[in-house]
Amino acid sequence: MLLREVEYAKPASVAEAIELLAANDGARALAGGQTLVNVMKARAASPDALIDLNGLDELRGVELAADGTLTIGAMTTYTEIMASAEAKARPILGEVCAQIADVQVRNRGTIGGNVCSNDPTNHLPPLMAAVGARMTIASATGVGSTEPASIVEREVAAADFFLGVYMTAVGPGELLTKIAIPAGKHDGFAAVTLGADGTCIVNAAATVDGAVRVAIGCVDAVPVVVTVDSPDAVAEAVRGAGLEPPSDVHASSAYRAHLAEVLATRAARQAAERS
Ligand SMILES: Cc1cc2nc3c(=O)[nH]c(=O)nc-3n(C[C@H](O)[C@H](O)[C@H](O)COP(=O)(O)OP(=O)(O)OC[C@H]3O[C@@H](n4cnc5c(N)ncnc54)[C@H](O)[C@@H]3O)c2cc1C
Repeated sequence: MLLREVEYAKPASVAEAIELLAANDGARALAGGQTLVNVMKARAASPDALIDLNGLDELRGVELAADGTLTIGAMTTYTEIMASAEAKARPILGEVCAQIADVQVRNRGTIGGNVCSNDPTNHLPPLMAAVGARMTIASATGVGSTEPASIVEREVAAADFFLGVYMTAVGPGELLTKIAIPAGKHDGFAAVTLGADGTCIVNAAATVDGAVRVAIGCVDAVPVVVTVDSPDAVAEAVRGAGLEPPSDVHASSAYRAHLAEVLATRAARQAAERS
């Protein structure tokens, strides 16, 4: 289906992008377009204006700080993360990006778009929750006044970032600019997908950093996090979490609940084996 008519702007700076978003409630950021353009074609969303972030190099790239913290620009693609020498400091990032869809989607899709769409079947929301990522969200104050607008930033933990299906802490007029991921190597990820490279039926990401933190995707609107002392305690903790996963043509609620236990345990064991 053809797109409905939409305004388009390609800002030259992050400040300009934020001002354009803030000036129009119906404007949406365009990252890789792998979700947004598809929902526009299906007429499930019809923004008034697309603010194309693809010219903004300041939103791209992976930096590794001396303490091991990785800072990944929101517009960094999965392929760039997989190829980044710095991102190998936390190997699970490239490993999970390599499991997303196909090479075309990986070449266009971005870490920022993935978490901002918060599709419950996406790979990255549970991974970000497990590794303890922190999201930087920028907005403008004073847009429309005679004074120049100023840009303000706030940092939101992954635990508070995912709010509901397709809903995150990024509000109207705001932009996710970067994601900080603390040092660590003891991570795991497990998923059951619809065929090779397919959408997840259930996925789970785990990190061992003293405690074992497991985030399960596809069973609720946001990743469900359980924290336990040992991988052996994961299955019981997931069983006790009161999950009520959705049923659809791909899997019943009971099957998803079963997969949640199995995959959470598998991800936690993988993380522990890397300790
Ligand atoms: C065939 C196919 C299969 C797929 N399979 C998978 C899969 O198995 N696993 C998976 O995880 N994903 C999958 N995806 C989704 C893909 O990973 C998308 O790339 C991702 O969900 C969105 O990233 P994007 O960069 O394309 O964002 P876009 O589609 O451009 O944007 C998505 C949403 O995020 C908002 N947004 C984007 N960037 C920002 C920002 N910096 N600040 C504020 N808001 C922003 C946009 O306004 C929009 O609402 C698939 C997509 C396709 C087409």
